[in-house]
Parts: sequence; structure tokens; C-alpha cells
Amino acid sequence: MRATTIHGPFDIRLSDVPDPEVLRPTDALVRVQAACVCGSDLWPYRGINEVRPGTRIGHEFVGIVEQVGAEVTTLAPGQFVIAPFSYSDGTCVHCRAGMPSSCEHGGFYGARDEHGLLVDGGQGEWVRVPLADGTLVATPQLPGDDLLADLLALSDVMATGWHCARAARVGPSDTVAVVGDGAVGLCAVLAARLQGATTIIAMSRHEPRQTIATEFGATQIVAERGAAGVAAVRELTDGVGVTAALECVGTNESMTTAFDLARPGGRVGFVGVPHGVQSPVETMFRKNVALAGGMAPARAYLPALRDRVLAGEIHPGRVFDLTVPLVDVPEAYAAMHERRAIKTMVLP
Ligand SMILES: [Zn+2]
Repeated sequence: MRATTIHGPFDIRLSDVPDPEVLRPTDALVRVQAACVCGSDLWPYRGINEVRPGTRIGHEFVGIVEQVGAEVTTLAPGQFVIAPFSYSDGTCVHCRAGMPSSCEHGGFYGARDEHGLLVDGGQGEWVRVPLADGTLVATPQLPGDDLLADLLALSDVMATGWHCARAARVGPSDTVAVVGDGAVGLCAVLAARLQGATTIIAMSRHEPRQTIATEFGATQIVAERGAAGVAAVRELTDGVGVTAALECVGTNESMTTAFDLARPGGRVGFVGVPHGVQSPVETMFRKNVALAGGMAPARAYLPALRDRVLAGEIHPGRVFDLTVPLVDVPEAYAAMHERRAIKTMVLP
């Protein structure tokens, strides 16, 4: 089959790799219907994270179950499934506590599982999904093509945006500011609205992203960044700042902004993969601002988010503004790196 591999900075290729097979009785073989590039895929792409040349990449996909191992009980060939960005057994102490991204037997696509067997990356034609019962979330029927983007967005960005708002305990009386206008930041706007916030300030300088933020429920847009952005948000919040700041980037600058935005007694939710971020413990002490978040337990949120998509209630797939065939996967990365695209869908 063909699958995406990374060979070094800015070197993404579509490669011929061995066809995956069911290797464990708990595996499912999924034929990918749509995949996408994640903001976190850009870290190795930009050479910030080192990679072994030829590493498989991609962790967001939806597809059709083609084959299941003998111990898989909840899935059958022909079903449409959403894959969360990590696999998990659904039965260990962490999974049962709602933290499947910390599963004792789980792991990540494009790497070896606990048995030393390669798990395919998501940006390819097929994926061997370990621990299929605990991992994959099926739809009751085959969804129409019009739902593909919305369901694909659940595999990571929407679940992650949801987690950010949830970690910041967003509720009806909150004023929320979202730092970051990537796909996750935009989904955090949508999540904040679904979780009841009435004032949602999206920080974005880019018109197409501002448009989606507004569609997703942002009540105000602040285009300024840094100190000017903080001043603008203060002005919109009677000079005091927000009760919940959602950090969706992962840089020290965005974390600093989030803490500057939070009013005393407020909360900062964070889901950006941290790169060089220092937690400002002194500010947390002085202002009584709580920090919570981390890698989203996507699998735990998927059934409810799936139902909202199937009911036509949310359209997180709006974040996709470029679709390329798998053969053009290098362009999928370049477009996101150069900010020509918010998020790219890749169709095998
Ligand atoms: Zn587990």
C-alpha cells in the first residue's frame, strides 16, 4: 500500500510500504476514507522534533473496517469508524477513569505497539488499529459524504478543543478567550459555546479564521497579539480579564498571553503540545489562576461528539479549507506550514 513517511525537515513522501494485516486478535484493519494533517505533525516537519528517516506519520483518520481479529466483539467489517489520535484498550484503570490517552496498553500511530509490531500511520491507504474495541468509534450507519469532514475533525482537533474548554471548566456564566486560531483554537471556540459560554473572544488576525470563529460562536474577535491583544481583551471585559482562557498553541508566548488574559480566580485550559513552555507558578499563586489540560482523552469524548455531528448540530469540519489526494501529501504539509491552509484533508 501507499503511506506517508517523513525523512527529515520538509521531506514528506508517499512511499510504498507493506500491506498491513491483522496481527493480533484485538486488531482491526481499517481502509482509510479520509485523513488529515495535524498542527503537531508540523513540529517534525519543521525539524523541531527529530525523526528517524522513513517514519510513518499521521494520526487522524476515518475509514471502513475491512477485517477484525478473533477477539474483536463490537466491530464488524463494513462499519464506518472514527479513530481517535491514539489507541487504547478501554478497560485499564486510566481508560475507565476517562483518560484513554494515558492507556496502560495504548500508544500512537506510526510507532510500534507494546508487542513490537508496527502500527501504521494515519496518512495512508490502510491502518492496522490495535485494541480496536477500545479505540474505534463506529457510526450506526454509513454516513453520507457530506459528513466526512465533520467526523474526521473529531479524531483530534474537535476532541482537543472540547478538552481545552472542559479542562478550564467552561460554563454558562463564563467569559472565555481563545488563544490560537488554528483548527484546535477554532474548535475550542465551538466547544466553549456548546459548554454554555455566552461571551467568547477569539484571538485571530486572519480573516478566513475569524469568519469560522464567528460561525463557531465567537462573540468578539481580537486581532492584536501580545500586550496589545491582552489590552484589547481587558477592554472587552470591563478591565478585568476573562474567567477562562483557552491556550491552543503550545508556545511560551501563547501560555503567557493566556495567563495575562485570565482574571484573578480564573482558569487556563491548555492543549497545545508544549514546546519550551514554562508554567508561571508565581502568577498562578498571585492571581489564583488554575492551570489544567494536557493531551486530550479524545476517545472518551467521541461518542457524544459523533452524535452531535450526526444530528447536524455541529460542523467542526469547517476547519478544512484544503483537500488534496494522497499522492499530493507533501503539498498538504507545505500549505499548512505556510499558513495557506488552516487544515488539510487528504483523500486516499
Ligand atoms: Zn487503557
